[in-house]
Amino acid sequence: MRRKLVAGNWKMNGSLSALSELDAIGAAAMAAPGVDVAVAVPFTLIHPAAARAPGLAIGAEDVHEADAGAHTGCVSAAMVREAGAVFTIAGHSERRADQGENSHDAWAKAAAAHRHGLSVILCCGETEAERNAGRAERVVQAQIEKSVPENATADWFTLAYEPRWAIGTGRTPTLDEIAAIHAIARAKLGMMIGDAAAAVRILYGGSVVGDNAGAILATENVDGALVGGASLTAAKFVPIIQAA
Ligand code: PGA
Repeated sequence: MRRKLVAGNWKMNGSLSALSELDAIGAAAMAAPGVDVAVAVPFTLIHPAAARAPGLAIGAEDVHEADAGAHTGCVSAAMVREAGAVFTIAGHSERRADQGENSHDAWAKAAAAHRHGLSVILCCGETEAERNAGRAERVVQAQIEKSVPENATADWFTLAYEPRWAIGTGRTPTLDEIAAIHAIARAKLGMMIGDAAAAVRILYGGSVVGDNAGAILATENVDGALVGGASLTAAKFVPIIQAA
């Protein structure tokens, strides 16, 4: 039985004063003991967020693949761990689009995070052009093949399916389309990591809001949500936690 995970991703949003949103989010998490709740925040907010919301899993949105060294402007897994993060996102489509990262980079970042004791939410998902060309399933399979570490297990590894065209757009795939990709993703994980795949959580991400969360989270093989815009305020995020 896989516990549901509702994870927020603040992206390049938030501030010290915005951390007050975590009070009500943390309270909602406490009131939903059957659901895991996590929030990834900008590097500068990890330490104050972790101090403010001890009941929430606070994470990073990215880490560098190296342990340390001459990488000006970058932040390592060990650093975010020391700051209080317990997980990181890897391979988010905005990193792929803005920073030119690929699935191999996501693999290396996930491996670095695991070396330093962080859990990982690793993202995959097709573009709109790829979906329209009928290639969504193959694209996601190929991304999983290149990015999922061979030693992935459910105690530290979570996959997130985030179709790029659904992120921040208010558009989502149909429930059947979500179920189809999640089934293929789990089968692909099974080919790579064997029986361990059955316990790995697969989140859906892309325009999840309070109104659609219940149906999406009830879809087969959907074990939670990765939420961007609707995670920024308790008013929008708490209904998603409650739906789970
Ligand atoms: P969104 O973002 O919920 O704002 O669509 C999801 C994500 O990028 O993780």
